[in-house]
Amino acid sequence: MKTPQDKALEQNSKAFFESLCAFVGEDSKREGIESTPKRIATSFAEMLDGYAQSPKDALGSVFEDGVCDEMIVLKKLPFYSMCEHHLLPFFGFISIGYIPDSKLVGISGLARLAEVFTHRLQIQEQLTAQIANALMSELSPKGVMVVCEARHLCLEMRGKQRQSHIITSALRGLFKKDSKTRAEFMQLLNNP
Ligand SMILES: [Zn+2]
Repeated sequence: MKTPQDKALEQNSKAFFESLCAFVGEDSKREGIESTPKRIATSFAEMLDGYAQSPKDALGSVFEDGVCDEMIVLKKLPFYSMCEHHLLPFFGFISIGYIPDSKLVGISGLARLAEVFTHRLQIQEQLTAQIANALMSELSPKGVMVVCEARHLCLEMRGKQRQSHIITSALRGLFKKDSKTRAEFMQLLNNP
């Protein structure tokens, strides 16, 4: 069942696509691209579904046993996100490390948490910080570190820069204070 919002989105998408085609000199009525506005609306709704999810729900069950206080690392989770300036993808790997205080979550919860923020209009620095901040506020761990490495199609498809490899990081708590903790995390990331 289509809601009035779905219909409005399709119509607006059609208007946007038609003016884009006119702008670049394409025929928006051409057979192959007739249904493109509808496809754009559907695929963007899918790629940007992170707004509907809360970090708390994404993390899932929280275990409070206080047994583990060692570093837990999710290494190089592949991700796809959308640059908020150009609506072009940036993609790569996100690594998340945290040292629990008393609250623990499953590794799949960390992956779902990342998706809450990757599936929004983003810039890489903000994405990295938002994942770290959400973990800090939901689990109150002793520390969090997030490292994000990505290629940006808005850099590679436009202009002269044919390669991009951008790395951002966000450090909270122990990871910020203690260089040994940081080094341990980086060592875990870099070991094959
Ligand atoms: Zn961009």
